[in-house]
Amino acid sequence: MKEQILGVDVNTENYDELIPKLFQNIDAQKKSLVVAINPEKLMKAKDDPALKALLNRAEFQIPDGIGVIIASKLQKGNIKSRVTGVDTMDRIVREAARTGKSIFLYGAKPGVAETAAAKLIETYPNLQVAGTQDGYEKDERKVISKINEAKPDILFVAMGSPKQELWIEEHRENLHPILYQGVGGSFDVLAG
Ligand code: UDP
Repeated sequence: MKEQILGVDVNTENYDELIPKLFQNIDAQKKSLVVAINPEKLMKAKDDPALKALLNRAEFQIPDGIGVIIASKLQKGNIKSRVTGVDTMDRIVREAARTGKSIFLYGAKPGVAETAAAKLIETYPNLQVAGTQDGYEKDERKVISKINEAKPDILFVAMGSPKQELWIEEHRENLHPILYQGVGGSFDVLAG
């Protein structure tokens, strides 16, 4: 279910409702993009129709940020709890490890995605990491071939917002993975 806040669609599901929906789409080979919605992005989108349209085109907009919950409450909406980008990534990774789906980490400075992947494998030893790529490679075709050859089920892109969402939108037609999430600075946080 979705609810509009300042003209932006936001999903009302909590984690336990959301994660199965994401994996149903993977199983059905239906591509989907997850974007995190916080008050900062809502304020930017208010004055930027292109950004608003980009956010609204995503299949899932998760309510990241307490301000989104408060805004929903004020309009007597149904968004009851935060669904953060970082925790959603963690839960996707956990479910991927459980169900044998593979992930690819794209973004951050050279070496960071590898370290983040190693940390994730420490936590989830069954996790299949199909590959990693830093976020500073200029040759986009090279990046797309690398991802497609690795054939991940899930692609996390950590290049900051909205750069990561724009990149996913531009290339998703040619990309193999079927679940995409823009995760901002999460690889840096994971790598420590
Ligand atoms: N980044 C990247 N390629 C770029 C620009 C940025 O990979 O061309 C990475 C950067 O190294 C950092 C992340 O994107 O890991 C940006 O994180 P930030 O905290 O700025 O994103 P936010 O969470 O604010 O969206």
